[in-house]
Amino acid sequence: MRFATKAIHAGVEPDPSTGAIMTPIYQTSTYVQQAPGVHKGYEYSRTHNPTRTALQNALAALENAQHGICYASGLAATDALLKLFKPGDEIVATNDLYGGTYRIFVRVFEDFGLKFKFIDLSDPAAVETAFTEQTKMLWLETPTNPLLRILDIRSLAAQARSRGILTVVDNTFASPYLQNPLDLGADIVMHSVTKYLGGHSDTVMGALMLNDDELAARLRFIQNACGAVPGPQDCFLVLRGIKTLHIRMKQHCENARQVAEFLNNHPKVGKVYYPGLATHPGHALAAEQMRDFGGMLSFELKGDDYEEAVRVMSSFKVFSLGESLGGVESLCTHPASMTHASIPKSEREKSGLKDTLIRLSVGIEDVEDLIEDLTQAIES
Ligand SMILES: *Cc1c(COP(=O)(O)O)cnc(C)c1O
Repeated sequence: MRFATKAIHAGVEPDPSTGAIMTPIYQTSTYVQQAPGVHKGYEYSRTHNPTRTALQNALAALENAQHGICYASGLAATDALLKLFKPGDEIVATNDLYGGTYRIFVRVFEDFGLKFKFIDLSDPAAVETAFTEQTKMLWLETPTNPLLRILDIRSLAAQARSRGILTVVDNTFASPYLQNPLDLGADIVMHSVTKYLGGHSDTVMGALMLNDDELAARLRFIQNACGAVPGPQDCFLVLRGIKTLHIRMKQHCENARQVAEFLNNHPKVGKVYYPGLATHPGHALAAEQMRDFGGMLSFELKGDDYEEAVRVMSSFKVFSLGESLGGVESLCTHPASMTHASIPKSEREKSGLKDTLIRLSVGIEDVEDLIEDLTQAIES
């Protein structure tokens, strides 16, 4: 099946009890057994729930994966993944990553004896030097948040695989519509489903997708043993959200392209970070490993004045100032004080994140209204 057909049909069967075309919200904690141990495959909703099963199968199909596992949030998915490891194990990660991922790595799992190294994954020699006998996982995001750097999934995954190291890709920014890391050699895909997959800023959820049966069994064990599962109502909302993923993503990409070009030509705007611009250093690689360039972009104002950036962010009328991304409505974020505040300023600056950077999640409104809003906010 092709992508749009999968987005609408994969994983979803008419409900066996009534024929309902939409998977019902199975709002139940337990299931009645005919005799002890004799049941229909469902015993308790932490372990299995039919609404969640449908969603997990749908999400797996979108990433061309055998297995999909859903969690109460993106970070709960990351938490479950880190529980695969033991004290002394090392994880090598990109130095340009989501602030909450940095926080769970350094402020939670370092206390349990895991070791983390943050490096520039665009430098193959640095990656080789970072890997040791103890390295168990390579963690990357591409495009990265918030600087939209592009990392080469195929070559990084091959480098890790040759040393028996698992490659995990946080595919939140691209969504499965634009990029399928498993097809490029990665072992596990992680999503904050909260973002493009949900698509309507109404649910917090995470997911892991993978092909390896043994690893999936271990992760399902951890899902049930540790319990960070999403509720059936949220699963229903995401099942509904992904039915329009492909048409939403097309419009996000088209609007972001026009917004990026507008900003790039504006005399008051300095650097624009969007992989769709021919001048972006990752443009050629993005064109190769992604189907389009996405709905996220960041920019700096000329003069690099913090007060001026705050003024612009406070003047928007259509863009809303808030954390998160990937919903149908346009959002603007100040990474230094919002999504990335948990990363120390020195680390932020090392990775090139200035305190004046403004990040946009370009929504699917009429792009003329978005450009008018940017014009009035920047020029007022
Ligand atoms: C939001 C986000 C996360 C965390 O997901 P939650 O659903 O908020 O827990 C992880 N990675 C990226 C790239 C994100 O944008």
